[in-house]
Amino acid sequence: MIQLYIPLNFLGVIYREIKQSLTDLDKMFTLMLREREVADAPDARPLLLKGHGVQAAPSVRFDHVHFAYDPARPILHDVSFEIPAGQTVAVVGPSGSGKSTLARLLYRFYDVQQGRITVHGHDVQGLTQDSLRRAIGIVPQDTVLFNDTVAYNIAYGRPEATREEVEQAARAARIHDFITSTPGGYGTMVGERGLKLSGGEKQRVAIARTLLKNPPILVFDEATSALDSANERAIQAELAAVAQGKTVLVIAHRLSTIVNAHEILVMEHGRIIERGTHPLLLGANGRYAQMWRLQQAGEHGQGQLGPQG
Ligand code: ATP
Repeated sequence: MIQLYIPLNFLGVIYREIKQSLTDLDKMFTLMLREREVADAPDARPLLLKGHGVQAAPSVRFDHVHFAYDPARPILHDVSFEIPAGQTVAVVGPSGSGKSTLARLLYRFYDVQQGRITVHGHDVQGLTQDSLRRAIGIVPQDTVLFNDTVAYNIAYGRPEATREEVEQAARAARIHDFITSTPGGYGTMVGERGLKLSGGEKQRVAIARTLLKNPPILVFDEATSALDSANERAIQAELAAVAQGKTVLVIAHRLSTIVNAHEILVMEHGRIIERGTHPLLLGANGRYAQMWRLQQAGEHGQGQLGPQG
């Protein structure tokens, strides 16, 4: 029986390894396909952001942008806005209104069909993808972690970072204590083959990764529910501190986190239907004011925008 058990067990291990490799391959091809959506122009130039030591924050501009993933279904219609260098623009609106699509276009996962997106005055289509993406740090809603150590996952944006820098970023993202409470500490394997992290823990790893990368442009795609409110407040404070002097796009689900944004864009069906500061939008008593009232009422319940996204 033992003789039979060992090979079967061994086969089980091999089966799982192959299955995992296929999953990894699948992910890799998905990424490669996505990468292939756009290519560097033959005369593409690197984005140069000269500053004092670190890269200076650039302006970001969407100029009459039209976009569709599938030509039969337009998603963005004539979207224009500017994030002046070092300022914060927040985007709110119902689920599916096109908020995350703005982030994907800025990162140039796709090219716009009409209009243009510029960074520091340069059309992103004329920049090398590598230099553009090095300048942007995205904290996505759903972070995919690599099957590697937690230290590797944090340092991914800046592999040459020292352990001390990795720990400092983890502390700022409120994930250090959790990491050190695991038996393997920073050497703990995470991802599908290792320790499974909750949505909030994964997002904190992504925040630590972005803090460490320290890019001049930050995109924060707020999770709908990944963080509990105590951690949420702590991290909001931390993000506000690191966002100082950076050009920031926040895709927000909780309006309370963006009241200080320089401009708030309200999107619906791929169009900007209202824009302005928080007090201005409240005074206009339109869609934003309605969302605000709904959320204030909800805060006594679950503190979320719910189906409004
Ligand atoms: P949420 O608040 O739920 O994150 P959102 O406002 O960020 O929503 P987007 O993710 O920008 O919305 O999606 C806008 C529209 O584009 C949706 O109708 C969505 O189904 C569609 N969409 C998103 N990604 C793709 C894709 N890769 N291919 C085709 N359609 C897509």
